[in-house]
Amino acid sequence: MSPRPPRRRTVEAIILRLWDVGEADRMLSLYSREEGKGRALAKGVRRAVSRRAGHLQPLNRVRLLLAHARQAPIVAQAETVEAFPSLRQDVTRYAYATHLAELVERFVWEGEHYPGLFTALRDALYGVATAAQPDWPVRHFELHLLRLVGFQPELQHCTVCGARIQPQDQFFSPAHGGVVCPRCRSQAPNARPVTMRSLKFLRHLQRSPWRVARQVVPPAAVRRDIEGLLQAYLTFVLEHPLRGVRVQQQLRNETRQK
Ligand SMILES: [Zn+2]
Repeated sequence: MSPRPPRRRTVEAIILRLWDVGEADRMLSLYSREEGKGRALAKGVRRAVSRRAGHLQPLNRVRLLLAHARQAPIVAQAETVEAFPSLRQDVTRYAYATHLAELVERFVWEGEHYPGLFTALRDALYGVATAAQPDWPVRHFELHLLRLVGFQPELQHCTVCGARIQPQDQFFSPAHGGVVCPRCRSQAPNARPVTMRSLKFLRHLQRSPWRVARQVVPPAAVRRDIEGLLQAYLTFVLEHPLRGVRVQQQLRNETRQK
C-alpha cells in the first residue's frame, strides 16, 4: 500500500481529456510532473459562473491545487501555465497535439509515473505549436514514449539473426519490434521496407533530445516513410499489449546495449 496522499497538494499537469460527470462536473485525465497519469474531478465547472472552467481545457498546461477525496482528487484551484493558443488556431496542429494526448492516454495506465514523460509531452506540445513541420516533434515524442514504456524499437541489429545492420536498405517488422536484415526478410512476412536514409533519421530521432532532433528535419518523403513505420508499430503494440512482449523486448534491448 502506498502512503495516503496529503490532504491538499499542488501539481503541474497537462490535461489529456475531459468528460462530463453528473449535472455540472467534469472529470479530467491528466499527466502531471509530480504524480504521472491520474484523474481529478472539477466540480461545478459546467455552470456559467465557474471561474475554473476557462483553465480546464484539453491540452492546457495547468497548475492545480488538488484536495484529497476517496475516489478522485478534487480540483480546488486551477491556473493556466500555458494554453498554446497557436494550437487552437490551426486544425492540423491541433490534430497533432490531440494525437500526443491520445498516445499518453492509451500507453500509460492510471497511476503510472515515468520520469521524463511530463517534460517530453510538454516539449512535444511546444514543438507542435511552433515548428515549421509540426509532424517532426510528433515522431520524436512517439519514439521517446515507446522507449519510456518499454517498447523501444531495435534499430541497430537485425531482430531475427542479431547481426549488426549494414548500411543498405532494410526491413522493419512491428511483430519483431525492429529492423530485419534483407537475409532474414523471409522469416518476417509482415516486415515493410525501410530505406537506409529513413533508418538513419529514425536512429537520430531515437537517440537525441528534442533540442538536437529539431535542428535537422528530413524532407517530406522521409518523414512520411517514418510516419508509416511508426504508425504500424504503435498499432501493433497497442493491439498486442501482452506483458510478455514487453519483457522480451526489454531484455533484448538490454542485451544489445551491453
Ligand atoms: Zn538478420
